[in-house]
Amino acid sequence: MLGRFKRLWDAKPMKTHYDAVIIGGGLHGLATAYFLARNHGLTDVAVIEKRYIGFGAAGRNTAIVRANQRTQENLPLYKEALDLWPVLTRELDFNLMFYNCGNLNLAHSEAALKAMRLQVASAQFQGIDSRLLDAKECRELVPALDISDRPRYPIFGGMFHPPGGIVRHDAVVWGLARGAAKRGVHIHQGTSATGIGVEGGKAAWVDTDRGRIRTPRVLNAAGAYSAGLANRFLGQRLPISVLTIQAMVTQPLKPLLHHVVSSGAYHCYANQTLKGEIATGAHMDPWPNYTTQTTAHYIKHQAEAVTEFLPCLKGLKFMRTWGGLADMTPDMAPIMDGHSPAEGYYLDCGWGYFGFKSSTVTGKYMAQYMATGECPEILKPFALKRFEEHRLMGETAALVDYTANN
Ligand SMILES: Cc1cc2nc3c(=O)[nH]c(=O)nc-3n(C[C@H](O)[C@H](O)[C@H](O)COP(=O)(O)OP(=O)(O)OC[C@H]3O[C@@H](n4cnc5c(N)ncnc54)[C@H](O)[C@@H]3O)c2cc1C
Repeated sequence: MLGRFKRLWDAKPMKTHYDAVIIGGGLHGLATAYFLARNHGLTDVAVIEKRYIGFGAAGRNTAIVRANQRTQENLPLYKEALDLWPVLTRELDFNLMFYNCGNLNLAHSEAALKAMRLQVASAQFQGIDSRLLDAKECRELVPALDISDRPRYPIFGGMFHPPGGIVRHDAVVWGLARGAAKRGVHIHQGTSATGIGVEGGKAAWVDTDRGRIRTPRVLNAAGAYSAGLANRFLGQRLPISVLTIQAMVTQPLKPLLHHVVSSGAYHCYANQTLKGEIATGAHMDPWPNYTTQTTAHYIKHQAEAVTEFLPCLKGLKFMRTWGGLADMTPDMAPIMDGHSPAEGYYLDCGWGYFGFKSSTVTGKYMAQYMATGECPEILKPFALKRFEEHRLMGETAALVDYTANN
């Protein structure tokens, strides 16, 4: 019977030289490896993963995808990312389970509605479907919503984004890994990067706990550990704090929630999975740490928050809770950079809440960057030097003010 289940890829012996080494077998590392091979014929690539692929936030996120970010630098990237899911499902021949259910962000004040109006206009300007709704229209979309004045923060309206939804995160990890390995990429699980070597100002090798690999190209895509590695290996200081995000699912129910619903005021989002569970999360512990533990305080907060605007969920049991690490920058936009402090050394990190929905398109452009050495236009605004030049992006406002929408 076992013979029926084909392995998605085979482990290969680790070589002492590769054309590119990617540190981190998460979404961004695997996507970059896949596109290096697919778009640039760079197949002599190793992905080094200290545990197993998807061990980091890749396997712990709540899988929400959308394109209605806030700033003109971010919107095109996320739009292309959203358009890529159906394309990749076909191309990888792997069901990524894109559930195009749409996202509804609730506004709980006139000020929040005003801010949403600006975000809707910014998205529409980039050709992204985003609409402002009043409270009644929100309830037509989600009949379970309480739009009375009973909740502590009554619902004033919302921002609806029909093309967003949910994609199965594990499937993305496995599909990309299989697609990359099929094209010759080596995936080395249980292999930790322990150092990066520089010779004559150029990236020259990656040390691992299984030996040294010589390579002219290194990508640091180690998620929550990327800043620590950059500092330890190269003395590079990144403006990243690592915080824990917690999430949970309830017992399964018959279908009642057909969209992702989120509320910044309650700092909470909820959607119903294809299995019927209500998946909910959003909270981020406000102090930096590297633990993936959940807390009783947060479980209580989440139960109280979600039942404020979806009171029919009262009395449900949470079946599972988990935590994952998020690498947060001060402006809630990522860092994608290259050739500093060494030529051939690249960075793709600082994704915080948003690194699932962006992963495939980022992989495409980081692969282009690594293959050609030239930074693609779309990635230029995300360079590390924006922090030195005090040119922070306005993505924080897209989240903190009112959206809490992963
Ligand atoms: C609870 C939660 C919910 C989230 N919800 C969403 C959401 O709905 N939508 C969304 O867009 N984003 C969401 N995110 C964010 C998203 O999951 C991350 O931004 C994304 O996974 C980052 O991808 P990554 O590849 O950069 O990092 P990761 O997926 O964390 O991968 C990094 C990998 O590097 C490996 N590594 C670390 N150090 C080393 C080393 N020394 N050597 C080798 N390997 C190493 C780690 O083991 C890990 O596997 C959520 C995150 C969490 C925690």
